[in-house]
Amino acid sequence: MAQQRTKEKIMTTTSSCESCGMPIESGRYCEYCTDESGALRSFDERFARMTEWQARRDPAASEQDIERQVLDYMATMPAWRDHPNVQAR
Ligand SMILES: [Zn+2]
Repeated sequence: MAQQRTKEKIMTTTSSCESCGMPIESGRYCEYCTDESGALRSFDERFARMTEWQARRDPAASEQDIERQVLDYMATMPAWRDHPNVQAR
């Protein structure tokens, strides 16, 4: 049977970062969630960054609301859903 070569790889498969949900082309985590060696950054580091993002997105919300929203979001992320701080929320 003749094999047909596809000219280009069809870009239908995109994955998302298991830490923050950002679309990525490959791997498990985006560049923001990993350090120079490619390892996932700590919970505290990601939590601090995500609260900054969320506070910018929702400037009217209180600090407490922001932290709650971030924890709820992180609870949907494979990298963090089993983390004690997320479980304890
Ligand atoms: Zn990420």
